[in-house]
Amino acid sequence: MSKEIISETLAISRELIEQLRYYREIGVEDIGGSAIVAPQAPAADSGSPASTSRQPAEASPRVVPQTPPGSGSDDATSLVTAGEQPVLFGEIISSRINPAVHRASLTSAGSRDVSLEAIREDLGDCQRCKLHEHRRTIVFGEGNPRARLVFVGEGPGAEEDATGRPFVGRAGQLLDKIIAAIGLKREDVYIANIVKCRPPGNRTPERDEVDTCEPFLFRQIAAIDPLVIVALGSPAFQCLLRSRDPITRARGQWRELNGIRVMPTFHPAFLLRSPDKKREVWEDMKKVRDYLNSR
Ligand code: URA
Repeated sequence: MSKEIISETLAISRELIEQLRYYREIGVEDIGGSAIVAPQAPAADSGSPASTSRQPAEASPRVVPQTPPGSGSDDATSLVTAGEQPVLFGEIISSRINPAVHRASLTSAGSRDVSLEAIREDLGDCQRCKLHEHRRTIVFGEGNPRARLVFVGEGPGAEEDATGRPFVGRAGQLLDKIIAAIGLKREDVYIANIVKCRPPGNRTPERDEVDTCEPFLFRQIAAIDPLVIVALGSPAFQCLLRSRDPITRARGQWRELNGIRVMPTFHPAFLLRSPDKKREVWEDMKKVRDYLNSR
């Protein structure tokens, strides 16, 4: 057997082992015969953790991106930039929304100096929108204030409302496993939502609620200044990117928000209902991991 075939076989084996490890992490017990697809390109290395902390202590080995730069949408670094609409949720076209103004907090130089604590203080005992009427607790967000990776979800559910912490229910447990699958811990990343109070009955946040709450999210992002944001589900993606695209179309392709890479992917709650979609999320998370490791 030639050296090339041996090394390619080894690379494919590594990829398969990595994929199986991910499935185990996220609780897939039976992947069946069709759950594994052949990798498109061999991985040069695998299994090393993506560093999310910008503290100098972490010196994790790097993972070479699985496809060479510029080779299309599978490239860990290629971006989709065109075609975005300056609107939030597709059905509502608003002349009030000016993306430049909305993102001002991400571009104004001063905002990077503002701490998360100061933003939390500004939020106070928020009663700016109707969501405050039914909430028990404001769920501000939590994690590493210097995280390289930020996850943005939709809004708190019942357990988050009870505890004041984001993503602690069943979807949160799955998110923890997804984070672990790329070699990270929850404490390494930052986790927030587009609205900070639980929508009654876990309904999708309404336009006025998002409008009211999102400036705090944008300020949090500006304060953290991450390399990558993972947008979990359509509302998070559409809010961050001012897009009408559903997550089914957007997922897996890098976007950009004021110099920050955004990876749209499925919400973990959706994965609980549709476990067959976990493979797509794994593909997306590998891009995130590889991009972080390339920086
Ligand atoms: N779903 C979300 O979008 N956010 C949470 O914090 C919990 C569940």
